[in-house]
Amino acid sequence: MKEKGPSTIVVTGGSRGIGRAICLTFARTRPHLFFNYRSDAGAAAETLAACRAAGAVASATAVDVADGAAVAVFFKEILDATGHIDVLVCNAGITRDGLVMRMSPEDWDAVIATDLTGAFHCVRAAARPMARQRSGRIILVTSVVGTAGNAGQANYAAAKAGLIGLTKSLARELAPRNVTVNAVAPGLVDTDMAAALAPDARDALTASIPLGRIGTPEEVAAAVQFLASEAAGYITGQVLHVNGGMYM
Ligand code: NAP
Repeated sequence: MKEKGPSTIVVTGGSRGIGRAICLTFARTRPHLFFNYRSDAGAAAETLAACRAAGAVASATAVDVADGAAVAVFFKEILDATGHIDVLVCNAGITRDGLVMRMSPEDWDAVIATDLTGAFHCVRAAARPMARQRSGRIILVTSVVGTAGNAGQANYAAAKAGLIGLTKSLARELAPRNVTVNAVAPGLVDTDMAAALAPDARDALTASIPLGRIGTPEEVAAAVQFLASEAAGYITGQVLHVNGGMYM
């Protein structure tokens, strides 16, 4: 990517957990940083202050990624303000766990709408300006569960597997315009989402990790930052697993 003034970086679900670490990692490069969240304004305000303190010109907006019209407005405002989008990280995600035989259609739909369709809304909004610029980096945050599957997470696994198909297809569509599209697939990472797991499920998962510990949000953010960097210019359509060896 050419460095013409500050980069414009967009991170979905940037207020907490992995998204917050991604925002803070990028903030140190002094970009124009835009992140969204769904409802936790307190967490968003904390992340915003930390990003500004780290050197970013940052803003936080409450936008539900499942709402296509709201996402379109969010991206239009970013483009109106900066004229370009250099990096898009689709990180927003939720879980609604349960065995398939007990899973409600509402829990299925909610996870697909946020984790998969939400990313579609965002990449759809960013693809055109990136194609026009003939540069850009798109990084989708999937999960180990999207490749390995997990009992009790069929909705989440389907959404995360869908993101991998989206990554590869979009990578092919945008490669002629010098835009790369990759996925990062975290294993078990120490955030509110992982804390919501039942303690025995969390212990069993931790025991299955060759490196013997769960990951940190910063370790995932480092992989995202690498894929967004100049150094990753010849990498597209790939899934980078950040999981301590949990899935190989
Ligand atoms: P988290 O701590 O629960 O944070 C989720 C973030 O996404 C929050 O900022 C949340 O905002 C936002 N969000 C949720 N639904 C949204 C929506 N509809 N529209 C906009 N923002 C929304 O989650 P995390 O653990 O950091 O996970 C981040 C990503 O990594 C997710 O895609 C997750 O699937 C993936 N991942 C996590 C793990 C793990 O072990 N933690 C493992 C593999 C993959 P509010 O707080 O305002 O709702």
